[in-house]
Amino acid sequence: MLPVLVVHGGAGLIPKERVELSSSGVRSAARGGYTILQGGGSAMDAVVEAVTQLENNPAYNAGCGSVLNVKGEVEMDAIVMDGKTLASGAVSAVRNIANPVQLARLVMDKTSHLCLTAQGAGQFARAMGVIEVPEESLITDYARMRWKKNLAPDANPVESQMGKMGTVGAVAVDVEGNIACATSTGGMLNKMEGRVGDTACIGCGGYADNTVGAVSPTGHGEAIMKVTLARLILFHMEQGQSAEAASDLALATMKSRAGGLGGVVTVDPQGRWAARFSSRQMSWAAAQKDTLHYGLNAGEHFTQSIDDPH
Ligand code: ASP
Repeated sequence: MLPVLVVHGGAGLIPKERVELSSSGVRSAARGGYTILQGGGSAMDAVVEAVTQLENNPAYNAGCGSVLNVKGEVEMDAIVMDGKTLASGAVSAVRNIANPVQLARLVMDKTSHLCLTAQGAGQFARAMGVIEVPEESLITDYARMRWKKNLAPDANPVESQMGKMGTVGAVAVDVEGNIACATSTGGMLNKMEGRVGDTACIGCGGYADNTVGAVSPTGHGEAIMKVTLARLILFHMEQGQSAEAASDLALATMKSRAGGLGGVVTVDPQGRWAARFSSRQMSWAAAQKDTLHYGLNAGEHFTQSIDDPH
């Protein structure tokens, strides 16, 4: 099996001055996750590594760099899913931790539940010895500036929907043919306190099944949930569509039926992959064999050697 790892850094409209940051971060996270696959590691370890790197990168709306809720606080959602067993773990509205994706994995590995939320998720994190970090360490000046700007009475609602994303996610197939996905986000800018988005919901913000493939979505969470985007894509693949065609079909449904824009990274069990979006932009990168593929604008597809560190 030819392993593959595909990551995204969020669908939306990426401000010009952040394009390079957004693109270089996904390339380096794809390399980081792929190194695990090259060493014979599991798809689950690879997607968690890639998403952890993106959470630690303040350029994205996940972990440090998360957007703020209406009260100016950080509440994060994350999910992982293992396509071999259909095991999954998620957290929602979680605070004061650097890597929600790792807590989601602990929910999968150490509990009989699929999702823990808010204070309960926090208690579980403490019980697992996850280090608590001050909220301030997760908030960037950029996130605070966007929060304030968006509270203004003349804030542009379209801008606020699509200009403020940067959720991160990854899908992978390992040498044994096992498939996994992981997604992590700070959610939608100025969301209500306690809002749970698609990212914490199985079938919406992620799904992995060794017999069909895996998907990690990004975009307008409420619209993603209305069409259960990740599972809808896999449904189309079960009906014989390619990863690319299935992704496009489901994103079109999300736009026409739920009025939402977004993007996805998708893989199938043969290691064929797609990075597709209906939003203006989505930074993505895919690592397979000796090549790193990447892009950000519609139709863009660049390649470089996997060993090229830039
Ligand atoms: N889907 C995320 C959410 O609604 C946001 C995003 O992907 O940018 O929480």
